[in-house]
Formats: sequence, C-alpha cells, structure tokens
Amino acid sequence: MNKPKMSTEKGVPSNSRVLMLLSQLERMNGDAMEKNVAMTRQVTAKILHLIQTQEKSGKEVMSKGSSGMEVILASLENTQDVQTILNILYILSELLTVGRGRRAGVFVSKGGTGILFHILITSSKELVPSEELMLQLHSLLAKVGSKDRKFGVKARLSGALNVTVNLIKQNPQNSKLLLPCLQVLRVYSANLVNAISLGKNGAVELMFKIIVPYIKKSTSLLKVALDALGALLKSKTNARRAVDGEYVPILLALYLDWHRNDTRHRHMLIRKGLLVCLRNITNIKLGRKAFIDADGMRILYNSSTECLPVRTLDPLINISSLIMRKCFPKNRLPLPTIKSAFHYQLPHVPAVGPVAQLYSQPPGVDDVVDESDDNEEADADTENDTDNEEEEKEQRSLNDDIETDLNKLHPKKSLGRPFEELRVYERFFLELSEDFQGYNIDSSKTSSTTPSSVSLSSWSASTQSTQPIIVPRDQALSPKHVPALSCQADCSPTKGISMQPSLFAPTSTLPASLNYLELDAIHLTKEQDHKENVHIPSADTQTSLSSLNFTGSFSQEQVKEQELSHVLESVSIEEQMPREAREVKQEGPSVNSTRHIQSPLLLGGITTRRVGGGGSNWGSDCGSEGADDEGGEGAVLEVPDTSLLLPLHNPDLYVEMVKGTHSVPQYAEVAYPDYFGHVTPKCREPLLERVYGVQRLKIFQDIERLIHPNDILDKVVYDLDIPSCPVIEGNGESLKFNSQFESGNLRKAVQVRKYEYDLLLNSDINSNHHHQWFYFEVSGMRVGTTYRFNIINSEKSNSQFNYGMQVLMYSVQEAISGRPCWARTGTDICYYKNHFARSSIATGGQKGKSYYTMTFSMNFSHKDDVCYFAYHYPYTYSTLKMHLSKLEALRTSQIYLRQDVLCKSLGGNDCPLLTITAMPDSNSNDHVCQFRNRPLIFLSARVHPGETNASWVMKGTLEFLMGISPLAASLREAYIFKIVPMLNPDGVVNGNHRCSLSGEDLNRQWQNPNPELHPTIYHTKGLLQYLAHIQRAPLVFCDYHGHSRKKNVFMYGCSVKETVWQSDIKATSSDLQEDLGYRALPKILSQIAPAFSMASCSFVVERSKESTARVVVWREIGVQRSYTMESTLCGCDQGKYKGLHMGTRELEEMGAQFCVALLRLKRLTVLHNHQHLLDLESDIIGTHTKVVSSSPTTYVMEEDEPSFLEAIDYSAESNDEDVEPESEHGVEVSENSNHQDHQSDSETNHRD
Ligand SMILES: [Zn+2]
Repeated sequence: MNKPKMSTEKGVPSNSRVLMLLSQLERMNGDAMEKNVAMTRQVTAKILHLIQTQEKSGKEVMSKGSSGMEVILASLENTQDVQTILNILYILSELLTVGRGRRAGVFVSKGGTGILFHILITSSKELVPSEELMLQLHSLLAKVGSKDRKFGVKARLSGALNVTVNLIKQNPQNSKLLLPCLQVLRVYSANLVNAISLGKNGAVELMFKIIVPYIKKSTSLLKVALDALGALLKSKTNARRAVDGEYVPILLALYLDWHRNDTRHRHMLIRKGLLVCLRNITNIKLGRKAFIDADGMRILYNSSTECLPVRTLDPLINISSLIMRKCFPKNRLPLPTIKSAFHYQLPHVPAVGPVAQLYSQPPGVDDVVDESDDNEEADADTENDTDNEEEEKEQRSLNDDIETDLNKLHPKKSLGRPFEELRVYERFFLELSEDFQGYNIDSSKTSSTTPSSVSLSSWSASTQSTQPIIVPRDQALSPKHVPALSCQADCSPTKGISMQPSLFAPTSTLPASLNYLELDAIHLTKEQDHKENVHIPSADTQTSLSSLNFTGSFSQEQVKEQELSHVLESVSIEEQMPREAREVKQEGPSVNSTRHIQSPLLLGGITTRRVGGGGSNWGSDCGSEGADDEGGEGAVLEVPDTSLLLPLHNPDLYVEMVKGTHSVPQYAEVAYPDYFGHVTPKCREPLLERVYGVQRLKIFQDIERLIHPNDILDKVVYDLDIPSCPVIEGNGESLKFNSQFESGNLRKAVQVRKYEYDLLLNSDINSNHHHQWFYFEVSGMRVGTTYRFNIINSEKSNSQFNYGMQVLMYSVQEAISGRPCWARTGTDICYYKNHFARSSIATGGQKGKSYYTMTFSMNFSHKDDVCYFAYHYPYTYSTLKMHLSKLEALRTSQIYLRQDVLCKSLGGNDCPLLTITAMPDSNSNDHVCQFRNRPLIFLSARVHPGETNASWVMKGTLEFLMGISPLAASLREAYIFKIVPMLNPDGVVNGNHRCSLSGEDLNRQWQNPNPELHPTIYHTKGLLQYLAHIQRAPLVFCDYHGHSRKKNVFMYGCSVKETVWQSDIKATSSDLQEDLGYRALPKILSQIAPAFSMASCSFVVERSKESTARVVVWREIGVQRSYTMESTLCGCDQGKYKGLHMGTRELEEMGAQFCVALLRLKRLTVLHNHQHLLDLESDIIGTHTKVVSSSPTTYVMEEDEPSFLEAIDYSAESNDEDVEPESEHGVEVSENSNHQDHQSDSETNHRD
C-alpha cells in the first residue's frame, strides 16, 4: 500500500485547512480507510468543498513541493468505496480544470492515468456499473489523455478500450455520458494499434451510427465522433471496413447535406471532419474506387468551387483538393515510349547500369506505364506500436548517406594509370617545360608571338559540317551594313587599353567602348573588405597578426586591389549598362543600322520539316509581301547589331560554329536567341511573388478535364515521334511549336483546351528520364489572350518554380526592337505532382510514382511573334566555341593563352582545354622558372547540360582572366589556369538535362571513367593524374554546377572532420588532423561575392557522391581544396541580391569574383609558416572549437526551402496530421511534410 508522507512547502501556512485535511486523509490511508468509510467520505467531501469554494485551496494542494497529488492518488488507489472514489474524482476534476497543462502533467507523472484505468476496469466488472462513476472517469481521462504520451498503450494494456466502446454501444441516446466516452475514444484511436483493435470491436460502425445529417443540436458530440472516426480510418483495415460497409456514399451524402445547410459556415469543423474521413478512406485503392463510383469527384469539385469565394473555408477546399488529386485516375503520358525520341548507337553498351537496362528491355514492352497504380501493400495493417522510435529512425535515415568508412575519408592518392600511359598528357602542359627561347618577349606586341597549338578559331574550318546549313546570303551581311563601331570590338586590343582611362595610369588610345572589359566593372568587394585587409598581413611584411597597423600591412597588390575597388564602386555594372544603352540609342544610325537576314527558317535550310516555327507569320509582319519561307527570298529581317554590347558574340561566327557541331538529330536550324545573342536586361528582375491559391486553381483546372470532358480538344500540334506532324493548318487556332535546334528538347505539344497546352520533354539520349531542362520555340500567338503551358513530365519532387523562379522568354520582336534579351516572365507559376503515372522502368523500380507539372501562364505582347522559352539562359556548345574563338582577340602580349582540344566526345565534338597564365617577364632563367612553377588552378564546368548557369559563370571567369585589369594581371602572374569549360558537349548539343550520349551522369563516372564511353572525364582525370604524378597537383580544383532547388551560390567541399562530426563514427583525434585550408576559399567568396552564401556550403563527404569530380579529385589526386560550386538557377535570399533573380550579369560576376577570391587565397598560401597559415585561416573562419557551433555547415540532405505558403500538399501523398482548430483560420498550414519523398529522391537534394 502506498503511504506517501504529507509534506507541505515552506511558507504555506500550517493552519491551511485543506492541507490539514489532506494530512488527515494521509493518516487514514490503508486499513483505516476500509474501517472508517464514513470518515473517509467526510474528509474527501470537505476537501472537495474547500477546493470548489476557495481558489487558494487548489493552489495549496498543487503548489510546488506539496505532495497533495500523491496523497489524493494514493487514497484513490486504496479505497473501494464508490462514493469516496467519486469524491476524489470530483476533487481531481476541479484541480485539473484550472491551470491546464501543468496540473494535468503532474497528475500524469504521478501515475494518475494508470489508476483511473484500473478503477475503470474494476468498476466495469460490476453487474451494474455506476453511470456516474463511468461518466466521471471518462471526463477525467478525456482531460488528461492528450498529456500522457503513453495513454494509448496504457489503455490497451489495461483493457480499457473495450470498456469504453461497450459503454457507447449500450448508451446510444445518453449524450451526457456519450460525449466524454467519445472524447476518450478519440484519444485512444490516435494510436494506430488501438485503432485496429477498436475496429475489430465494431468502433467504425458504431461511429457511423452517431454521425447524422445536418442538425442544429448536439453538434459537439458529432464533431468528436467524426474526429474519432477520422482517426480510426487511418488504419487501412478500418478504411477497408468502411468501404465494405458502403459508407463512402454515405459520407459524401452527409458532406453534401452539411455543405448545403450550413449556409452560415458555423459548422466548418464538422464538414472538415467528414472530409478527413474521406481522405483517410481514399488512402487505400478500394477507397479511391468507391469514391469515384460514388461520383465523389463531381461532388467535391462542385462543392469546393462553391466554397472558393469564402476564404475561411480554405481548409475544406484544400482537403477536397487533396482527395480529388489522390483519386484522379492515373493517366498514361501520351507517348509511344519514354525512351528518347533520338537514338545514338553506343560503341559498346555498359555491362550494368541504367543504359544496360535500357538496352536489355525487350522490344514491344510498354515502358510508359506499368502496374504501378495497382501497387498497394497488402491492405492489412502492419503497423507496430512505435511511440518512441520514430524520431530516432528519422534521424538515422537522415545520416544514411554520410561516408562513415574512415579509410575512404582519408585522401588516398592512387595514380591509377601507369606513368608511361599518362605521359601522353605532357603535350597539354607545354607551359611546364616552355623555355621561351624562341620568343622575343619584350617586343611582342601582337598575339602572333604567343604560343598556340590548336586555336579554337580554326575549329570550324577544321571540322566538317555533317549537314547542309544555309547561311544568310553574303550581301546581306556586307560590311556596309555593319556599323563602324562594331569593328573596333573585333580589333585585337593593344596594350594599355582601359575602360576608365582617367583613373588608371596608362593612357587610353581607344574610346571607352571596349565592352569586353565589362566584367572588370563589377563590385568586387563589400565594405568590410577594407577592414579585413587590415588584418591580413602580406607576405613581405612582418606585421604581427594582432597588430592593427593601418598603413603598414598592405602589400602592393592589396593597395592595387583596394584602389580598384574604389574605382569600381563608381563603375558598377548597374550604372554602366544604362549608359551603354543610352549610347546605343544616341548613336542612331550606326548602332541601329540593321542586318538584313533571311527568315529564321532558312538558317536551318530544311524548311519542309520545320513547320512548327513562326516562319510563315514572320515575313508578313515585317512588311515583305507574299512572304513565303519556302523560297526565303522575300523574308527580310531587320536586326540590331549587338556587337557593341556583346563583344564575344558574332552571329556569323555563331553560324560557322554550328556547322562544326555534331548533334544526334542532325539539327540544321539555329534558334534566334543563340544567333542574336543575349544582352542582360537593364532592370533587376525580382522573384515572382506567389499568389495565394494559385496551385489549387491550377489543380482545379486539371480536375475539370475529368468533370467536363467535352471541353477537351487533345489536339497534337507538335510531335517528334511522328515525322509528318504537325500538319500545317492555316486557321491560326493553335500555337506552333519547334525545338529542333541545338539544346532544344521539346518532344510533343498537345493543345488541351483552346488556350492551354500540355508539353512533353524529350528524355536524355539513351535514357528514359531526366526531364527538367527545356528550350523551345512558340509562334502563332494572339495578343490579349492568356495561354497556359504545362510541362507535364517533369521529374524532380520540388522546384524553385514554387519559390519565385520564373521561366525565361526571348521575343524576336523585342530583339528586333533593340532588346535582344532573355527575360524572366510568366505568371501563375507552380510546380506540383500530377496524375500522369511514371512507370517503374523509369524510376528504377519504385512503383506508384507520378510526374510533376510545371505550369506557367503567358500573355504575349506582340502579334505574330516568335518566342522562345527556356528553363534557364541557354548556352549552347556552339556558343562556347564562338566565345572561345573571340577570346583569342582579347590576348595581349602579357597573356599566355593556349587552346587545345583535349579529346573528342562520343558524338564527335571537340572538348576544349584552355591554359591561361601570364607570359614571363623575360626569357631569363629566373623569369621562366617563376613562370613554370606557378601553382595550378584547375576548373571545369557543365558536366550537367541542364545547368547552363555553370557556363555563364565560366564565361565570367574566362573573360576576367583575359581582362586587362591589374587584378587579372596579378592573377595570371600568380597561377597557371587549366580550364575545361564544357565537360559534356554532347549533352549540351542534344538538349539533355543531365547525361551524356551514353545515357549516364558523367559526374558519377570519375572513379572509373571508360575511355570510350566517357572520354571527356577519362582525359580530364588523366590530366589531373599526370599532374599528381609530376608532383604538380593543382592548388584548387573546382567544378561549376547549377542547383535547381536552392537559392544563392555555394560550395561543396571535402572534410574528414566535418564528415565525422555529422556522423556517429568513432574516430581518434589523429584521424581528425586536418588543415582547415579547405574553408578559406568559400569564406573569402562569402566576403566578396554578394550572391555567395557560406551558410549553404557543406564539406561533408557522402557515399552517393564518391564518384563525383569533387570527391575523386580530393581523394585520389590529393587536392585538399576540391570543390563543386553550385549556382542557383533561381535567385538569392540573402545579401545584395536578396529577392532578385540571378541573371547572366550576376552569374558572370560570380565567375569573376571567383578569380578575385583566388588572388586572396594566394596571399594566404604564400605564407611559408604553415602553422601561421592555419592560425590565419582559423582566424578567418573562427576558432577550431567554434567551427562546430558557429560555422554554418549545412548537412546536404537538409530541406532546401521552407514549405511555401499554400495549404495544399503539392505531392498529394502526405498524410499529415490535422491542424488544430485554433490555427485553422490563421496562417496557412505547412505544405510539405512528406519527408520520405525528399529522402528517396536523393539526387535532387544535393547535386554535384
Ligand atoms: Zn550539376
């Protein structure tokens, strides 16, 4: 028997009556209670009276340090007298009504729940249980149920579940007793095991007896019953029971009844409760079928549409929408196969992997759909009681991908190939052996004296075109049409040209119009830079770290940099660009002078096949009569000359480059934007603010297809799989589509409704998925009409299109009007899971997956325009070749630039390799020695074709490196740059999103690249292996990428220490000896580049990334500073560009700032004292110990964005808990709680 000793808190008056009574009760505990029932009743009644009448009495009992609750519970446990029990239950009820949570918590912690269950069981065995007692017990249980985490388990183990159910069964009319019983049942049912057990005992049917059509009375009872039912139906067995009992039509009828009668929306919670029941039933396939059979789609669609104008009914619309999306019959993508429309025969098929599977797929197999939709785990419940383990499990799976093998975490230089073999790469490193004896360096004024093995400018000549490409007629491009100024941009620059002549020492010989220097005109530093400079000692001074000598610690270089940043602040791009543009306007005839080119069709030459484009419309709008593109004679375009604004661009050169580009579909057309070029728009482009409810509106429109099938046209207007499609129709009722040009990848367009089109993207070649990137042309539009476009076979589970990103559009009409630019556009943009089934063949075995819709609306502003849409700023392989060719023209006598062809790609395209450094000051031994011994920086980009932003960043880097700024000169003098600007030319050419022609992700081949299938990776790795072999491994390796699901620019690196920290592996301190140098470069970048975010960086080594460039170069080549640099496809949420899209200007700026950061890195690394370096770096990044807490290493699996504010689960699969009523009308409910989806989709989380 329990005999707790009554103790009172210090300070509580000893004459407190209630405490004295409690002491008395305590003394009676035990035998005395049995003997003196009357006395016990009397004492408990007195206590009750005191608590009911005096607030302070309750406080005294429940005060901290008081053992009042123990005494009360002990008495409750010891007594058998019903009246005493009742008295105590009343006391407890009074006590727990006040102070809510805390008092109930005390009650639970003292074991109160168990005692109540015990009494419940005992009393239920009486012949006629006291109704009063049952009522009080359930009332109390209902009060404390939610405070006891083990409530469900205790109830089940004590056998209380059935007692409650039986009580409800026996008292169907007794609403007084019913309410607390239902409340307790609701808590019971929250536990899934309980729900199953209760279901077996008829609880589901029981609830259906209680819920009724619209009445005004006892709605609270109804509400609780619905809640309990909703919880019960989470069990699949119970859901099935409800289906078998034909309750689905009943629920729908009830819902409709309440919807119609509850005109003042007073009972929204009851309506919601009904929907929750439907939602849970439709989690099983049978439930969905029953729902469809009962005309549920129409009922919910119509009722929701009626609710739309009332914002407070949003929860109803949202659940309805969720149910309808789940039940929407899975559709088949309208494609014959999901294999790419183009086929490339591989020299040999890999033995294993996705490509092997693709090739081994028997002919005739339908790969578009399979039995995915039938996938339903056995309808029986397999749930375990997992009260505590859930969180742990989640935590574990979160860390699953971290590399925990310490052996793999330590860089292991492995040279792989024998040196004899690697010697072939020697020829790519002429600078390491060059003696310059053949050069007269001091007098070299022109580029002809600098070494050049294979010049890119000769590429187009050396490679044969594989198909006829008709180039604009010669006379159309005769020099007389080219403005005089543009010639200057083509001139080889000479020494000493400066954009701001008055601010630099050298005098300028040319007007300030040499825009290729544009990139020098960026904000290179933030304000704090000056301060930071102060702390960093230069190599040639002995200033101590602690000294704050403001004048003594600048090296010449720093001063230069500072001066420059002062200058640059007044020459920021933002100011520069409008001025340029103004010039352009003012120049009048010279700049506006036009080129006359033929219709875009004729660029391609295969006009008969290409009917999706805007050719036929084009000519008429441009004033030429009877424009007939077949002949092409009359179609004349006026095109602005952009050579001033785009020094690296030349349309003619572009066409030349296209001729040498090999594509699998043998593209013979050139897209206008690639031909004209892209000029960064003047104005900033803010992220799109998401309109509330846009997603559900789109979803409702999708559902309408099912509700009003007669509205659906389903007219195929473009189809790569049918060569004769589309048939030309002159009625102008449909848009025309085309994407048969480099990097284009539209496969099919279906006109669904008059102004709505479903678009399907082509798979990567030799693959059956990876749809995300898009680039296509639209023409034949009307003005004043809103068109809706839906890309219906996107694959990633989330997208920045949900977080402000807009699509890019290029209007040819705008280009002609002097605005040749890609602009962010589109409204009503969102990205959500749709009802098109993904076959398990495409998902790698996962069943029941769906595609995603990326939707946007567009209001065109020009009649008969030709517009292009793209996922991100296109940057074709031909564009790269053109830029590299034009880069030659930037060469000065101080610049050592060599362009080599590293190898041929699988598709026969050259893979360029650039070497950039400074020429030695002279050919003296010392200077040549300094030249050869400069540390190497190795950069690469665009292994993933869909990440075009990587190319724009690379363009910024290249232009900066070739620039004439003092910073660029210092940089070239400091390092030798080795650059592979496009690791995957074939993927880029053919419009792939992720793979090469081998159908594989090249950034997963670094461990063991195949020379035939992955030549660019094989040879790039070869270069690095060669360098490692001759002890010249690069100081920094960085591979540029783009990120589709995060904002800002950030880096991934490799650190043993930070990987160990993130995992639970045991490591000795010697395992963790690590130079912190890997953090220096990203840290510097976060200081100088506004788009860069240190908080998004990660230095964890993941298993799934073990064959990426970053990890292999770190582990095998031994490069400590081995990075992936990820640039967002969207915009920034911090820094100067917060809330803005990243345009090409910002991307190029990032590429330039990367170079500046390298210069700063140099100052850190030239310090000979290694420990000194360490200190310095830890000074920058915080102390060692601080690294853990203050340095914001983000684990890569982390959610990339907070859920966006729309209360619809965009995945339509989540079973998230109901919202508490309080929050229902307030802030929107968190949308995406589907962690599983995120985790399974590991590729999308961290892509490099
Ligand atoms: Zn990538």
